[in-house]
This record gives sequence, C-alpha cells and structure tokens, in this order.
Amino acid sequence: MTQIDDRTEDDSQTPRLRFAPSPTGFLHIGAFRTALFSWLYARHSGGKFILRIEDTDLARTVEGAVEDFNAGLAWLGMDVDEGPVIGGPYGPYVQVQRKALYQQYAHQLIESGHAYHCYCTPERLDEMRKEQIANKLPPRYDRHCRYLTPEQRAEIESKGTSWVVRFAMPLEGETVVPDRLHGNMVFKNSDLDDTVILKTNGLAPYHLAHLVDDHLMKITHVIRGEEWISSAPRHVQIYQALGWETPLFYHVPNVLGKDKKKLSKRRNAPSWSDYKKQGYLPEAVFNFLALLGWAYDDKTEIFEREELIRVFTLDKIGISAGIYDADKLLWMNGVYIRKLPLAELVERTIPYMERPEAEGGLPEAVARPLDRAYATRVLELEHERLKTLGEAAEIVSFFFEKEIDYDLSILIQKKMDAEGTRIALERTRDALNALPNWEHEAMEALLRELVITLGIKNGQLFGAIRTAVSGRTATPPLFQMMEVLGREVSMRRIDQAIAKLG
Ligand code: GLU
Repeated sequence: MTQIDDRTEDDSQTPRLRFAPSPTGFLHIGAFRTALFSWLYARHSGGKFILRIEDTDLARTVEGAVEDFNAGLAWLGMDVDEGPVIGGPYGPYVQVQRKALYQQYAHQLIESGHAYHCYCTPERLDEMRKEQIANKLPPRYDRHCRYLTPEQRAEIESKGTSWVVRFAMPLEGETVVPDRLHGNMVFKNSDLDDTVILKTNGLAPYHLAHLVDDHLMKITHVIRGEEWISSAPRHVQIYQALGWETPLFYHVPNVLGKDKKKLSKRRNAPSWSDYKKQGYLPEAVFNFLALLGWAYDDKTEIFEREELIRVFTLDKIGISAGIYDADKLLWMNGVYIRKLPLAELVERTIPYMERPEAEGGLPEAVARPLDRAYATRVLELEHERLKTLGEAAEIVSFFFEKEIDYDLSILIQKKMDAEGTRIALERTRDALNALPNWEHEAMEALLRELVITLGIKNGQLFGAIRTAVSGRTATPPLFQMMEVLGREVSMRRIDQAIAKLG
C-alpha cells in the first residue's frame, strides 16, 4: 500500500508545475483553466512553470495544435519557464524526442519483474473484449502473456513476433492515491488492468510517458483534470515499481457548462482564439478562468493579475465543478474595459474596427486607417457601455459612415406623426443653425427650450433627433454624440430626415 500523503507543500523543493497538453486537437478554454492553476501557483510560490508536449499518440496528432497552445499561453500572459521553445535543463520537452527514455524505463520494469512483453494480436484482443462484454465482464486484458514461460517467450520472439510492454499490476490488495483535494482515494488492485506502457512503435503511451517525464523533470505538483483519477492508481503502482516518489496530485474538477454537462469545443466551449476574435480582453479572461473552480472567498470576483498571483493558493481549489457562465464573462469583460485608460482602449479597439467588415469590422465603405483623434472622441462616448472590443464597430459605425439608413418608423416617435416630426426637426435645424458654438451644453439648453415651445415631450423631440443623426434608437448621450459628429454631419442628417418625411 502506498503511504499516506502527509507531505506538506513546504516539504517540496522549489515548486515545479507543468502544463502537458496533447496536440490531438485545439484546446477549449477549460484546459487553459487547469493550466492557469499551475501557472498561478508557480508564480505565487516563486516556482517554475513548464510546458511539455505529450505527442506520443502520433495517429491523433493535429497539425497546428502546438502553435495554438503557445499562442494561447502567450495571449493569456502565461509565460513559460521551460518548454520546447525556450528550452531548459530537463529537456527535450517534447515526448517524441524522449522515446529512448521511456524504452529505458520500460526495460528496467521488465528486468525487475514488473512488466512483460505481450504478443497478443489486435484480433485476439478484439475477440476477448467482445466475449467479456457478452459475458457482462469489464473489458480488460486477460493477462494471457503475463504467464508465458521463458521458453514460450523465446519461441514466440524467434519468429519476430511484435510485442508491446504491459505493466504487471498487483492482483490483490489496494492502492491508495494520495490526492491533495480529495484526500486518499483507495482502489482495489483487482480492478487494475495490465496497462500498456510501451507500444509496438517504441513510443510510450501517456501512462508511462507522463510519469517518467514528471519524475525526470522534477515536477512537484501535478494539477490535472479529474478524468485522470481512474488511471491514477495504475500510475501510483508504476511509481512504486520504479522506486520513485509521486508528486503531489491535485485532480481538479472539470469545468461544466451551465447545463452541468462537460464543456466541449463542439457544444459550448470557446477556444482562446474565439475570445480574442470577439474582443475579450485577455486580462478579463484570465480573471474569469481563475475563478472556474477556485475562489478566494465567497464574494470577490475581480482580481487583477498581480493580486491573483499574490492570493492564489492550492488549498482554495474547490472540489465541485466550476460552472462556465458566459454572461459573467461578458460582465467581467465590461469591468476590465472600463478600467482601461481611454488611450489604451482606443489603441486596442481600433484593430477590431479596422478589420474587414466580414470579420466584424466597420463597413467596407469606411476608409482605413481610421482617424485616431476622431476615433478617440467616439470611443470615449462608448467607453462605459462597451462589453467587448469586437462589438465596437457595430455600435459606433454611424459615426464613420457617410450615409446612414433607417426606417421611418423609428424616426417618428410615440404619439407623433410625420408632419409633427417634420416640423419639430425643421425647428431644430433653425435653432441649431443659429447656435454660434457647436458644443453640447449649449445645444442641450437650446433644444430643451424648443421642447417647451413646441409643447411636446423631451423624449419625442430628442428621440427624433437621435434617430435623425444616428439612424438608431439607442446611442450615447444625444448632445455629446452630436458634438462629436460635428455640425456639418449632424445638420446634413437632420436635413435628410426632414426630406425623408416628405
Ligand atoms: N496529455 C494529457 C492531456 O492532455 C495531460 C494530462 C496531465 O496533465 O497529466 O490530457
């Protein structure tokens, strides 16, 4: 039996934590959440954050996935201390380049009697599995090759038969998986399969490769998804057979959708690049991710990066799933947008506005590059309302378009008709024409007076003017908006509205 894990976190040397993605696909945001826990703790403790690419499943390797992991980490500001690009003292950090090491340890396990060559053909394994299922038995290797005699082995191997290496799990007793979040988890050894630890192509599957690497790379804390709990007793057995101490395990709950189902890229989980495209700020996503399954207390939600590093401890990881709430992220993004100094908001939003219309940018008719000074005045008006940088183009397009188009029905306000609206806009035009300075306070005073003169309501006059100058019903404050639009554009649009009304 494994010893009870009574090590304290301080026992370990400098904490070394890793993110070990498999390039079998593009990661959804939940995987980055788990990596973020490791990164935060590494930064909190003055430890190291290591990136390792677990690419031994060659058939499932997806092109571009590694580049995507790197770009995602960079976007979120999770810098790597050791990894494939930056290198480090325990490299290489790519598993296919570590093949010889896995072979060495697989061989050592055979020598010590903990592993054996298995010659079973895929066909035989398939037959066996079918039979087990038919007999309502859990599908598991029947250990046929475990009990071959040395003579039988020699004979089979003399024919050049190919083999895999399997680990000989103990048949009786229990294995304790010490987990820092779940406590000691006890598994019956009779339920453990003789796991393949080396494949015919000489590469090690995850079950051997990751732990050889974690050991050689001196990983102190393994933070990974709870889907690995069921394999953990097998890993513990392999650690013991190799005479190695296990790292501290933290099997963290998965991130679930609001429907309490596991996140999946296909159904409900965006990737980091989706967030980027939509104009989420990486600092907001960073904050949001940290709170998916970790909490400082039951109320604080906004943690800037440095603050999070300061307060992030592993004991505050929860054991119930983090729920992915897209509305909360949207809210949080708005909070971070409001924190940005105006100049930075402009700097970061302009690229979104200048991208092609088909990708969410301003209409093609609007000339690029945008006038920065004007864009600054426009965005200043929207700063409070903006929830993503990506939505800016749509919200402010009327500030940039030469022509605006809208339906008469939104020009004519409640309890007004076309005739009344026309008269009101003509009087507005005349009043504004007489205004010496085009600035919002003067405009407001003037037009509030006009409301009284016309004997209508504020909303009726201002609503009509709003639609006339913007083509919209919801905009920033009317007079400030007109000031930014400028006299010429505002007056032209009021004239056009009058003309529209016949
Ligand atoms: N390569 C594994 C995965 O992508 C890593 C799991 C672990 O962190 O140990 O799921």
